[in-house]
Amino acid sequence: METSGRRYKGLRESMVKSQIEARGVKDPDVLEAMKVVARHEFVNESLMDQAYNDHPLPIGDQQTISQPYIVAMMTEALQVDKDDRVLEIGTGSGYQAAILAELAYRVYTIERNRTLYERARQTTEKMGYYNIVCRYGDGTIGWKEEAPFDAILVTAGAPEIPKPLVDQLDIGGRMVIPVGSSSSQILVKLYRDKTGIHQAELGGCRFVKLIGQCGWKAE
Ligand code: SAM
Repeated sequence: METSGRRYKGLRESMVKSQIEARGVKDPDVLEAMKVVARHEFVNESLMDQAYNDHPLPIGDQQTISQPYIVAMMTEALQVDKDDRVLEIGTGSGYQAAILAELAYRVYTIERNRTLYERARQTTEKMGYYNIVCRYGDGTIGWKEEAPFDAILVTAGAPEIPKPLVDQLDIGGRMVIPVGSSSSQILVKLYRDKTGIHQAELGGCRFVKLIGQCGWKAE
């Protein structure tokens, strides 16, 4: 491995230890995925040296790649199994999709911004994530042709939980979604079993807006 690759690997390992394990994420598979995926590959070259810092980063068009801890915490809450088919809404840089792809059988990810969609598709392909399927469109209506899903992760803040996504969750399926106002949300976890839908709150968070038919209106 060339020098910069070794340096980034070191930064990843200390990111996992000091930002993620230290805040209580325990799932060994999630921790391993966070150690393996080269986060710097998902940001602009000028931001690569900040890729392992404890904060979100801009990815263009006023959108962000989430803070590493948030990615790890949401992934752990989703309880992804190796046979799972996972739907992600809000591909952004493609980083969260790559973390999910390390854990799941297949990841379906939807992005409404054409530039980000194209870039994330190229990045994930170049990195060899052939189990990620990208789609350009409005994720608030889900991906009906591929439903039902074992897990659904929404990485933008919704005013309420989009009904099409709940309908596309399989029995035994989990969904993690930020719900609230445009400036702050509560991270909600849904679980579907034979008796219906169960819901728990995981804590406060702050995401960019989920815009679409079952989300916020575009400005
Ligand atoms: N998961 C991303 C990553 O790993 O880089 C970060 C997601 S960023 C916080 C939120 C993304 O959701 C933005 O790229 C935004 O364009 C996208 N988005 C917002 N509304 C959407 C919708 N209805 N369908 C699909 N993507 C949407």
